[in-house]
Amino acid sequence: MTRAEQLGRLVMAAEPRPFWLDQRGAPSARAPLRGEAAADLVVIGGGFTGLWTALLAKESDPERSVVLVEGHRVGWAASGRNGGFCDASLTHGAANGRERFPAEFATLQRLGAENLDAIQIALDRHGIDCEFERTGSIGVATEEYQVDGLREAAENSGATFLDTAGLRAEVNSPAYLAGVWDKQGAAMVQPARLAWGLAAACERLGVRIFEGTPALGLSGEADGVAVRTRDGVLRAGQVALGTSAFPALLGRLRPYIVPVYDYVLVTEPLSAAQRAEIGWRSRQGIGDSGNQFHYYRLTADDRILWGGYDAIYHFGRGIRAAYDQRPATFATLAAHFFTTFPQLEGIRFSHRWGGVIDTCSRFCAFFGTARRGRVAYALGFTGLGVGASRFGARVMLDLLSGEPTELTRLRLVRSKPVPFPPEPLAYLGIQATRWSLARADRRDGRRNLWLRALDAAGLGFDS
Ligand SMILES: Cc1cc2nc3c(=O)[nH]c(=O)nc-3n(C[C@H](O)[C@H](O)[C@H](O)COP(=O)(O)OP(=O)(O)OC[C@H]3O[C@@H](n4cnc5c(N)ncnc54)[C@H](O)[C@@H]3O)c2cc1C
Repeated sequence: MTRAEQLGRLVMAAEPRPFWLDQRGAPSARAPLRGEAAADLVVIGGGFTGLWTALLAKESDPERSVVLVEGHRVGWAASGRNGGFCDASLTHGAANGRERFPAEFATLQRLGAENLDAIQIALDRHGIDCEFERTGSIGVATEEYQVDGLREAAENSGATFLDTAGLRAEVNSPAYLAGVWDKQGAAMVQPARLAWGLAAACERLGVRIFEGTPALGLSGEADGVAVRTRDGVLRAGQVALGTSAFPALLGRLRPYIVPVYDYVLVTEPLSAAQRAEIGWRSRQGIGDSGNQFHYYRLTADDRILWGGYDAIYHFGRGIRAAYDQRPATFATLAAHFFTTFPQLEGIRFSHRWGGVIDTCSRFCAFFGTARRGRVAYALGFTGLGVGASRFGARVMLDLLSGEPTELTRLRLVRSKPVPFPPEPLAYLGIQATRWSLARADRRDGRRNLWLRALDAAGLGFDS
């Protein structure tokens, strides 16, 4: 059997579903909405964005009636199937933030740090056990050309630069050349437990949650907005949209988002000997520095979650359950896993899955209102929304309040990304970009004409 066939078999033996959701103690389904209901605020979407919006709305005004509708199950989509890196960055990393929002970058970093602290405090306050570990994260260089970039990042941010020996003393991989350890800027969470815990906290404060309730359309009324659902109608004073990569209920938002699939493997729990072999005592989240990057971390029971690299777009903004599985990507991920940790040869993978990301061309969320200020949205987190979704929720509530606030004055909040073109240009452009990014990774990071033209136009593609 060839190595490729061996890896193919290895990954296909794993359970084809998200490890995080495949747990004892998952909540049972909530009833759908049937008939009519009314609320001051209707939140659409039961991922982190919607859940934080409902929770913060109730916390700030307990008298406000809040209903959350979820088309399927709370936390089933990106929120329950991600890597669990809860990052302070609101801008998909410091480099992207500094480049796109130079004048307010320091403010965004402060707001991001406050947001992560506030998440930690909220978990304590509501008794949400989601295996939160404030480990920080390490960005690693596996190619010589990446080392200077990391050194510069450490100098700019005050994070700790680790040379080869220093990094390998933390986490033992022969692939590592250097790293930068941000000790405060990230926590690891069990994301499905976070979503379930937020939903339970919402309900304790009086939020009504309906699952199996897709919202099909919005229409303006004299004193609010009517939300048509599959089996009923909700009369809302205000509406907050946290619908992520799924078709936006406001048609004008659709060009801003493309659904992109990202994939993950999880190993069986490491033995004590395997654990000792790789070190990793401080349990940091790790990401490497290529355009096509991997992210990986330990779970509470000492498995390794290993994801990223391929970012797959399907023609026509396709979203389908079948896309959650991609054997070729799983085999690639497994090959890269064993290059990074050859000491773990022989370990098995217990779970494999994919999920859809709301990619926008600036890689961080955008915000706004519609229907005379009664509908707010926060979309486009592009693969870094576990922490930033709480900030997005605050922005939506501030926008709905109608009062200018520190958040609503931000350029991040007032500006929009460049929209993607219609098909077939979107598909062709994304394939050209993916091809160019892979090529740059093979050629010491050198960006070709296509990537440089996109850079100049402020356009990009990422996961
Ligand atoms: C594989 C993978 C790995 C990732 N890793 C990380 C990571 O490590 N760190 C990080 O920060 N981010 C990561 N992300 C991204 C992160 O998961 C998302 O940014 C975040 O969960 C977005 O939350 P959300 O609530 O906006 O979207 P979602 O969790 O997608 O929730 C949107 C919800 O809206 C519902 N919905 C949509 N339309 C309707 C409608 N019309 N009516 C009713 N309901 C509707 C959907 O059913 C869904 O439940 C990853 C994503 C994936 C897929």
